[in-house]
Amino acid sequence: MKAHDVRHLKLCPSCSSIGDEREMAFDGSDFYHGRCFEADFGLDALIALPRKQRDHLTLGDVGNETMTILIDTAEEEDALVPSPPRETPT
Ligand SMILES: [Zn+2]
Repeated sequence: MKAHDVRHLKLCPSCSSIGDEREMAFDGSDFYHGRCFEADFGLDALIALPRKQRDHLTLGDVGNETMTILIDTAEEEDALVPSPPRETPT
């Protein structure tokens, strides 16, 4: 962690320890560790977070099981995005 990273530190209201807001879950008013967010609000709520936030959660934070679910969810979402139309040869 670099000195200027200090300004990104937030106090997690769930466990009362600090975290880096860039790797935390935001509920609209507070930043939580991913694991704390899951413990307080449930896995479904964690999955329902904006993709941008979920993508920044770390394995060390949420753990193997939850990370696997998050990755699977992201892959399913990606599969739902229609691929660009193929050029059909004339
Ligand atoms: Zn926490």
